[in-house]
Amino acid sequence: MRFRGHGHRRLRPPPPDSKASVDALIDEIRRARLAPDNYRERSLKIHGLVCAKCGRDFSHHDRRLLTVHHKDGNHSNNPPDGSNWENLCVYCHEDEHGRGLTGFDSEEK
Ligand SMILES: [Zn+2]
Ligand SMILES: [Zn+2]
Repeated sequence: MRFRGHGHRRLRPPPPDSKASVDALIDEIRRARLAPDNYRERSLKIHGLVCAKCGRDFSHHDRRLLTVHHKDGNHSNNPPDGSNWENLCVYCHEDEHGRGLTGFDSEEK
C-alpha cells in the first residue's frame, strides 16, 4: 500500500500547432518554385511602382520598365516578405550591374 506518485499527475500543455506553420512554409516554397516569375509581381506589390534608386514613379502602363533587383545577387533567394528585392528601373538596374557585380541577363527579364 503505497501512495507514492499519487497526485503527481502532470498535465502537459498541448504542443503549439507547429504542423500548421510547417505546412504553410512548404506551401510557400512550393508556390515559389512553381511560379518563379511571381516574385516580380510580389515585389512590385510590396515595394510599390517606384524605383528604389532614382525614385521615379511608374504607372501600370510603363511598369515593364521597372525590374526586380536581388540585393544579395542571388536570384534564387526570394523571401516572401520581399527583403531581398529592390525595385529598380531598367536604367538604375543596368547601372547597378554595370559595375561588374554580376551578369544582368541571368537575373531579370
Ligand atoms: Zn531608377
Ligand atoms: Zn539586379
